[in-house]
Amino acid sequence: MTQKFDVVVIGAGPGGYVAAIKAAQLGLKTACIEKYQDGEGKLALGGTCLNVGCIPSKALLDSSWKFHEAQDGFAIHGINHAGVTIDVPAMIGRKSNIVKNLTGGVAGLFKSNGVTVLQGHGKLLAGKKVEVTGPNGVEIVEADNVILASGSRPIDIPPAPVDQKTIVDSTGALEFQQVPKRLGVIGAGVIGLELGSVWSRLGSEVTVLEALDTFLMAADTAVSKEALKTFTKQGLDIKLGARVTGSEVQGEEVLVKYTDANGEQTITFDKLIVAVGRRPVTTDLLASDSGVDIDERGFIYVDDYCTTSVPGVYAIGDVVRGLMLAHKASEEGIMVVERIKGHKAVMNYDLIPSVIYTHPEIAWVGKTEQTLKAEGVEVNVGSFPFAASGRAMAANDTGGFVKVIADAKTDRVLGVHVIGPSAAELVQQGAIAMEFGTSAEDLGMMVFSHPTLSEALHEAALAVNGGAIHIANRKKR
Ligand code: FAD
Ligand code: AMP
Repeated sequence: MTQKFDVVVIGAGPGGYVAAIKAAQLGLKTACIEKYQDGEGKLALGGTCLNVGCIPSKALLDSSWKFHEAQDGFAIHGINHAGVTIDVPAMIGRKSNIVKNLTGGVAGLFKSNGVTVLQGHGKLLAGKKVEVTGPNGVEIVEADNVILASGSRPIDIPPAPVDQKTIVDSTGALEFQQVPKRLGVIGAGVIGLELGSVWSRLGSEVTVLEALDTFLMAADTAVSKEALKTFTKQGLDIKLGARVTGSEVQGEEVLVKYTDANGEQTITFDKLIVAVGRRPVTTDLLASDSGVDIDERGFIYVDDYCTTSVPGVYAIGDVVRGLMLAHKASEEGIMVVERIKGHKAVMNYDLIPSVIYTHPEIAWVGKTEQTLKAEGVEVNVGSFPFAASGRAMAANDTGGFVKVIADAKTDRVLGVHVIGPSAAELVQQGAIAMEFGTSAEDLGMMVFSHPTLSEALHEAALAVNGGAIHIANRKKR
């Protein structure tokens, strides 16, 4: 007999699994279809984020940072020790255990919430039926509502075909068993910078080849300038305006050709990471008569509420327009399920924080100064350097700053940009303030614990109107 559900979700990434849990919590009979298998051939929930994305990359960033600190960061505290070494397979093993724990945790949450897991490939047919092709054959399930959450995968470029040995994508770069001596990274985006940082801290000579002339275009210009300076000091050789045009694997190495302002160049690496972005996964997801439209860039077309062209069919996360971020996917999942239940949930797309987990971390929410200027909005800006923060000094982590941008007329905070220690956590405070329409003055009048890194946000908010205490104000009151 055909199984029938209130909600069927295709894909168990942070979009799909969160949507499925929420749906079950709201009393909807829910199934989630997932096909991904881990290295041991077992079904693994959690999608890109848990298996080969956010979590494993952060595990390696944290391990490599500890190694870097143990090598170069302890002496200033008076801690002297010699002979620090790195056991790469142990580091990778730790990362894999974290992944296993978390993906197993999602399976546990499905069980405790009563979400039915259907293992296999899901395909939307006409009439909100879904075909599941799994280890035991083909099954058709029916649903009142279908949520498509099939996510994304790395973009391949013809000049550097991934073989997962010498030329790898982000997934392969999480599995190196030894530190490559010469590491090339194509693309100075978030993923390229994070993975480049991991291996650079462990000893690789890292060269990043970026086709664009501008570094971190989405970030506030003050932040991207500071970031380029800092990463370069850390030893990352970031070549801007360098477009990769070809590559040739020669034994254990790869010869990469690129063009820059001086013409054609060549460079040799031991490993090459291709990190040129991600594209939506819609392969065999939609039957030709499903009625779901795809936009010109290959994303499933949705409106602001993640409704597709078919009533009762929704799409969320990396497979639809917008930032390719786990928290964006999850919140879209929650919004969709709440709306299925008849609640009036709306997602605030203007306040999705972005984070780059390098050191220093980079994070922002809201608009950049350059965007606001281009839009003709008059702004006041306040900045506070971590070099003037007592807490940052205590931690010997004084690089970077907090920048708060406020509307010159209303004083409402329009953007918070941080490069520095705990930027990801600090920017969330800015996001909360902005969600409630806080002014820079109000933020400046709040009481912040001392000594904390958060005080840098407080001072930057005060600086917007010339009231910072621990630095000279650019603007006078
Ligand atoms: P996915 O996580 O891609 O999940 C989709 C799931 O659907 C997959 O499990 C797939 O197997 C399954 N699927 C696809 N098609 C079918 C089908 N037809 N039938 C059955 N199953 C199907 N984001 C952050 O916010 N923070 C970070 O720090 C961060 N770091 C990252 C680091 C790396 C190296 C990478 C690659 C990504 C990172 N991201 C990060 C991005 C984040 O992983 C994605 O934005 C997020 O996973 C998208 O969630 P999703 O649910 O839309 O899709
Ligand atoms: P993101 O989409 O943020 O992950 O960043 C990917 C980066 O890769 C972008 O900044 C692109 O400009 C860059 N990129 C894409 N193709 C090439 C190429 N052939 N050579 C060098 N950089 C590239």
